[in-house]
Amino acid sequence: GLPGVPVRPLATRRPSRRIQVGPVPVGGGAPVSVQSMTTTVTADVGATLRQIAELTASGCQIVRVACPSQDDADALPVIARKSQIPVIADIHFQPKYVFAAIDAGCAAVRVNPGNIRQFDDKVKEIARAASDAGIPIRIGVNAGSLDRRLLQKYGKATPEALVESALWEASLFEEHGFRDIKISVKHNDPVVMVNAYRQLAARCDYPLHLGVTEAGPAFQGTVKSAVAFGALLSEGIGDTIRVSLSAPPAEEIKVGTQILQALGLRERRLEIVSCPSCGRAQVDVYQLADRVTAGLEGMRVPLRVAVMGCVVNGPGEAREADLGVASGNGKGQIFVKGEVIKTVPESKIVETLIEEAHKLADRQAAD
Ligand code: SF4
Repeated sequence: GLPGVPVRPLATRRPSRRIQVGPVPVGGGAPVSVQSMTTTVTADVGATLRQIAELTASGCQIVRVACPSQDDADALPVIARKSQIPVIADIHFQPKYVFAAIDAGCAAVRVNPGNIRQFDDKVKEIARAASDAGIPIRIGVNAGSLDRRLLQKYGKATPEALVESALWEASLFEEHGFRDIKISVKHNDPVVMVNAYRQLAARCDYPLHLGVTEAGPAFQGTVKSAVAFGALLSEGIGDTIRVSLSAPPAEEIKVGTQILQALGLRERRLEIVSCPSCGRAQVDVYQLADRVTAGLEGMRVPLRVAVMGCVVNGPGEAREADLGVASGNGKGQIFVKGEVIKTVPESKIVETLIEEAHKLADRQAAD
C-alpha cells in the first residue's frame, strides 16, 4: 500500500465530506491522494492499460481517462475491470457517455458543467444512475470552458465565476438529493486558482480536487503547481491533487508525490539533502547528488541522505541525516546515523553511500 500517514502537516485539514473513488477515500480527513490522466486514445485498450500500469507503478492512486467518442465509451468496461487503480471517466459534451461510464463500472465520472449544454435536464437521471451505482461525480470547472452565462456576467474566468459555476452545478445535483460530489475549479494562473479554491472551500463542504490547468511544460508546470498546491494545502485545503504537465503522466505523479512529501502530508521516502555547492566545494556536488539519487531510486523505506560539498555545513547535515557524506581533500567522510563510519576516496563515495543505504534499508525492513 501507499504511505498515507501525515508526517507533520502545516495545518489541520479543512473538514469535508468523504467520498469513495473505488477503494480510495477522498475528503473527510483521508490522506491527500495523487492522480493523473492517461494520454493514450482511450479506445486503444492495450495502450491505455499499459499506461495505467506505468502510472500505478509510479504511485498514481486514481486515473482519469478521456471519453470523447463512442469507441472510447465502449472501451471503458475492460479498462475499468483491468486497471489496478480506480478509473474516472472524463466526460465533456455528451451526457450519454456518463451513463455508459457508470454502466462500465468506472469508479467515478467527471463532468464539466460549462461543456454540457443540455445538462440541466439530464441531472436527475445522472444523479439517479450514479447513486444506484454508488459512485461519486466530480464537477470539474475549467477557466477555458466556463459556462457562457457566467463568462458574460463576470467578463472573464474570475475566482467568483469559477466558484459560482461549480456551486450552481452542485446545487442541481443537490436538488435530487445527490451529494456524492467532489469539485475542482481550475485555472492556469496560480493566483486566480488559489483564490477560487479558498472561496470554494469556505462555501461548501465537498472534498476538493486541486489542479492548475494547462500549467505548462515540466519545469514551469512543476513550479506553478507546487506553489499553488503548497499555498492551499498549507491552509488545509485540498483532498486530491492532479499536477498537469505537458510531459508524460508518470512525471505528474512524481511531482505530486514530492509536493505532498515536502508539505509533510505524506511520509517521506528517499530524501536527498544536497547542498547547492559554492566556491568552497571540493567535489562536484551536482554530479555526486545525481549519481546518488539515481543509485537509490525506488528505495521503499524512508531515508534521508545528505550529500554535502565541503566541511562547512557538511558534517552537521550529514550527522542529522540517516546517511551522509561530507567531502573534502579528495575524500569523503561517510556518516551513518550521526557517526563517521569511514573515510573513502572520492571515487568510492557513491558506491559506499549506496551500499550503506541498502544496509540501513535492510535493517529498517527487519525491524
Ligand atoms: Fe558550499 Fe560547503 Fe555549503 Fe556545499 S556544504 S554549499 S560546498 S559551504
